[in-house]
Amino acid sequence: MCGIVGYIGEQNGIPIAIEGLKRLEYRGYDSAGLCYFKNKKLHISKKKGKVADLEELINKKDSSSIVMGHTRWATHGKPIDKNAHPHFSMNKKLAIVHNGIIENYDSLKEGLIQKGYKFRSDTDTEVLINLIEYIHSDLKLSLSETIQQTLTQVVGAFSILVMSNEDPETIIIAKNGSPLVIGVGKEEYYIASDPSPFLKYTKKAIYLDDGEIAEISRNKLSILTIDQKIKSPVIKQLTMELEEIEKGGYETFMLKEIYEQPKSIVDTLRGRILQETQTIKLRGFNESIENFKNSKRIIIVGCGTSWLAGLVAEYIIEGLAKLPVEVEYASEFRYRDPVIYKNDIVIAFSQSGETADTLSALKLAKEKGALVYGICNVVGSSISRLVNVGTFTHAGPEIGVASTKAFTAQVSVSILIALALAKIKNNISKNDFNQITNELKSIHQKMQFTLSKCRDNIKEIAKKYKNAKNALYLGRGVSFPVALEGALKLKEISYIHAEGYPAAEMKHGPIALIDENMPTIIIATNRRNYEKIFANAQEIKARNGKLIAIVSEGDNQISKIADDFIEVPKTNYYLSPLINIIPLQLFSYHIAKMRGCNVDQPRNLAKSVTVE
Ligand code: GLU
Repeated sequence: MCGIVGYIGEQNGIPIAIEGLKRLEYRGYDSAGLCYFKNKKLHISKKKGKVADLEELINKKDSSSIVMGHTRWATHGKPIDKNAHPHFSMNKKLAIVHNGIIENYDSLKEGLIQKGYKFRSDTDTEVLINLIEYIHSDLKLSLSETIQQTLTQVVGAFSILVMSNEDPETIIIAKNGSPLVIGVGKEEYYIASDPSPFLKYTKKAIYLDDGEIAEISRNKLSILTIDQKIKSPVIKQLTMELEEIEKGGYETFMLKEIYEQPKSIVDTLRGRILQETQTIKLRGFNESIENFKNSKRIIIVGCGTSWLAGLVAEYIIEGLAKLPVEVEYASEFRYRDPVIYKNDIVIAFSQSGETADTLSALKLAKEKGALVYGICNVVGSSISRLVNVGTFTHAGPEIGVASTKAFTAQVSVSILIALALAKIKNNISKNDFNQITNELKSIHQKMQFTLSKCRDNIKEIAKKYKNAKNALYLGRGVSFPVALEGALKLKEISYIHAEGYPAAEMKHGPIALIDENMPTIIIATNRRNYEKIFANAQEIKARNGKLIAIVSEGDNQISKIADDFIEVPKTNYYLSPLINIIPLQLFSYHIAKMRGCNVDQPRNLAKSVTVE
């Protein structure tokens, strides 16, 4: 995920682009760059860091009526100067900014290297611009036709802007899977990932659809599709205000990130499930396949929500791949002189990749000879640099302090690792593999459905319980760590004391707390332990406790005795955390809002905990 801007018109586009990039910085902020015409040639300025750092780099006297810019959220290649966008093609005939991932960049790159192409960066994006340049010189087509031809060879998600040395009057843009919108001014056009960069100049906008390419010059805009159909542009009148857009129309980043989950899961899984060959394509895993084959156990370390994603992973990996997994708080692990064997695999979960305790735990494991594996969201982060191998979650920047989409992304990667491991250990049948991967590929639809269904009824339920002093969350099996995560969310943002427990443990202590003021949230969607959890639900009701149940659609037992219930779609047991966490996130969110709490920046908490 990144922010893209473009301008073509009469004004000097440089300050417009810089200001626009600042508005898009929430989408990515590891490096930034601009491309414009200087001395009649394409000129690129780019730099690691924030847009403000880029601004200092630009000569204040420079002026250009055609400009494009980028603020990056690295997916391929570290966040360093050379990987920042824009990228030149090898012969500097063209330049590009790109948001998204080119899945088949490896094979495309190989082909280009054989044709003599050299690369200056580690990005997938540079492969795309070199391919465009190559096809342009090979087929002698116009630039927009060339881009159309090139995109038929590209697999993945992208929105791109391309400028050419030969044509200082035109920008070509294309979109497939990543956002792109054109602002229509008077003899000028603005282009951006969302309308915030141009809203103060125009409220007329054209939203490109997937598979569309637009050729834009000052007086003309034409749209064609990748399969060569001509489209007429549809101009919409925007009614939104600036503030709303940066948060995508949501009142907070946290809510936006909760609702983004169906999309972020697609990004996490993109290109990683190959059903035809029944394989999981995870580079980190594949590079360490021998270690996984020879290992007798996996140790997962993490903190906070990442630790809880690790606990979910324990159930999934042990269940599917039959390899023992231990999950440790990174802080405890590092200080208790743990026994680590050389054939152990230590996996760190961390959204930011900077969590101090997790980083130190990994260093220790590495010193002791274990293979260390990172599951991080931030490319180029300290953990991703320290590990032997790893997998990025590609969930896009998470701004809200309480983690939501990073959790579901980490769980998705855990499912992929479990499936890959089950495959190499011959512990999964073809049928089960297909069933789970099919379900995983469409899980975003069920997540979307859950979000839509929860929209109103969770608010109503939250209203009833917003003044609670305590809350109990119960689950069994893989739903137990989900219950813990639900409790953590409530604590973090609403400051209500909440505890998660394995449902059966309730009888060994927490049941003493139950009275008519105490809400218990019970996760009861899985058939495999339904009767047991039904018994726990009855125990709560027998003591006059308030019961809120998360149940599967069509449930007619627990929902009948619950004070409130939320129905979610049925799914595979191992995938259920991806669905069940959604009502819990929303429940804590609405309670926190009703209590007047600042959900994006809860008191005493920080997004990335870089102190021990
Ligand atoms: N895949 C590209 C990169 O890593 C673009 C990432 C983005 O959307 O910022 O540079």
